[in-house]
Amino acid sequence: MNLLVLPGDDIGPEITAAALGVLERANAVYSLGLDFVQREVGVASFQRIGTTLPETIVEEALAADAVVLGPCGMTEYAPREQGGVNVPGTIRKRLDLYANIRPARSRPGLPRALPKLDCLIVRENTEGFYSDRNMFLGSGEFMPTEDVALSVRKITAKASKRIAQVAFEYASRRRRNVTAVGKRHVLQLSDGIFITQTEGVAAGFPNVTWREMDIDAMAADLYTRPERHDVILITNMFGDVLSNLAVAMSGSLGLAAALNAGEKHAVANAGHGSAPDIAGKDIANPTGLILSCGMLLDWLGNRHGRADLCDAGRAIEAAVDAVLANPAQRTSDLGGGTGTRAFGAAVVTHLEKSANRIAHTA
Ligand code: ATP
Repeated sequence: MNLLVLPGDDIGPEITAAALGVLERANAVYSLGLDFVQREVGVASFQRIGTTLPETIVEEALAADAVVLGPCGMTEYAPREQGGVNVPGTIRKRLDLYANIRPARSRPGLPRALPKLDCLIVRENTEGFYSDRNMFLGSGEFMPTEDVALSVRKITAKASKRIAQVAFEYASRRRRNVTAVGKRHVLQLSDGIFITQTEGVAAGFPNVTWREMDIDAMAADLYTRPERHDVILITNMFGDVLSNLAVAMSGSLGLAAALNAGEKHAVANAGHGSAPDIAGKDIANPTGLILSCGMLLDWLGNRHGRADLCDAGRAIEAAVDAVLANPAQRTSDLGGGTGTRAFGAAVVTHLEKSANRIAHTA
């Protein structure tokens, strides 16, 4: 299987190197048969060839079995027509990655982590309130007069149905509960479609219970009673906000993992930005991207019916948990003094140890 690795900008190359080290070790100890190809995107690519994302790399991403993409610092890019292509946005569109999957779990002992949180946010990734990209042609935001601005939210039955399907599939492998989030009494037509489609999908999963909640009630409930929530099914913009709240409740933005997935393709992303303020200092927390790579292996395992890939994905998560359990091994965002490289190396060591234990007991 071929994995395309795109390190991105700012802290991207540092955390991608740590995550790739973990993936390479998992590949070796679990004999997964993964091949890695690394390519430059973002500012480095722009400086060399005048574009942040050449078409050849999009084609490589389409041909690969999966992609690892570090965060990209889009605010520094040149305008689109001068080569500053939005890297994650373009890849998301061209690979039709309609599901943004973001876990948030509080690990024992982490500073600021709220106990009893263990949820998976399944966020629709292609429409909603993102008016700069939710139209086929033109923008969903416009000004009919000089002092009036309108933004249009797009919700379709097709996109609502397929994201609900993803949420219920994940729920059936977890604690079998879905909370569908909107604000239906206000957004009656659009959230009407979203919830009607959810009902239809839910009928096919009799073992999964579900409830509907308004976004405002949900924000409070996630904070006060996190144990009530397993999989959270949510539209694009509400999901963006709620997933940052959830990951902050788990202890740090540096823990934010994210998988962007579609029918045929998946991309491991960190759920945070490119953090230019701490770039190049070996202090960024690579946990988010490492966990995303574990999710990517799990996705590949389910897609290709390969239990070894799912096992390796779980082993990566367990190794991260083991490293984070020791305060001395944490990065500075979690109150520790460990650097990016050393953290990645510690995860690799744990991965090897656990693989040796399995080999001895087998
Ligand atoms: P974007 O708009 O791309 O989401 P942003 O500027 O809103 O990006 P981030 O780049 O995610 O936000 O950074 C927000 C804050 O969190 C910054 O202070 C940054 O240093 C910190 N941060 C983000 N990711 C990490 C990480 N992996 N490790 C440590 N700190 C991080």
